[in-house]
Amino acid sequence: APFLQIDGVAMRYGGVEGTLALSGTSLDVAEGEFVAVVGPSGCGKSTLMRLVTGLWPPTEGTVIVDGREVAGPLSIAGMAFQNPTLLPWRSILDNVMLPLEVVQPHRRELRAKRGSYERHARALLRLVGLEGFEAKFPWQLSGGMQQRASLCRALVHDPRLLMLDEPFGALDVFTREDLWDVLQDVWLAKKPTVVLVTHDLKEAVYLSDRVLIMSARPGRIIAERRVPYPRPRR
Ligand code: ADP
Ligand code: ADP
Repeated sequence: APFLQIDGVAMRYGGVEGTLALSGTSLDVAEGEFVAVVGPSGCGKSTLMRLVTGLWPPTEGTVIVDGREVAGPLSIAGMAFQNPTLLPWRSILDNVMLPLEVVQPHRRELRAKRGSYERHARALLRLVGLEGFEAKFPWQLSGGMQQRASLCRALVHDPRLLMLDEPFGALDVFTREDLWDVLQDVWLAKKPTVVLVTHDLKEAVYLSDRVLIMSARPGRIIAERRVPYPRPRR
């Protein structure tokens, strides 16, 4: 069975008279597959991400991850959004390590593994060019640096499912393309299932196995193209 199954999902905000953001959306993603979702702004891409990660229940239809219906926030997923949403009272390192506290809620085991977790978090921060900023607080970093830290936070617990909602949107073009390679290396090494929402068709084609196109609101997947091998060069 597919790792992620979205079946006939609809989402209406604010009751029967509200905005129909998604309608009749279905999608299967195999374990270890990397799919990209592109579509016009407002078509419901972020809504789809929120439904899959269990932040909201769909109005209609079901979302199944790893054989189980999603019914609440999904801790096996790593998430990153266009805005970095770091906790202001935590250092960059402690922000990146946050998902480890969620997947490892027992304090004693968390303490026992702290060293190896911390090495992993530091290695990720180095990979995205944030070495030396571990002890800083979010407000001390530029927006782009915060966004890079939030990508590290999404990756730190080696999630089996990675849900990325325009994670490179606010970065300059050079940083963005460097991070494509960081993400691609992580994917090749760990083979998580990835759903990447992006406005950038070049990014979608460079990174994914399959590009899905959504219609304007109410969003629905209306076309898909498999990315041929060998991959295009950037
Ligand atoms: P995209 O990510 O493709 O830009 P969204 O999923 O953010 O699209 O939004 C899809 C539609 O749902 C838009 O019309 C948007 O205005 C509406 N919408 C999104 N979030 C909410 C919300 N919390 N309450 C009401 N309407 C919303
Ligand atoms: P971006 O938002 O694309 O990361 P900025 O133009 O804000 O870039 O910053 C460019 C570079 O300046 C950063 O990549 C970083 O090397 C450096 N920088 C930005 N803010 C800080 C800071 N608070 N302390 C030290 N260096 C910083």
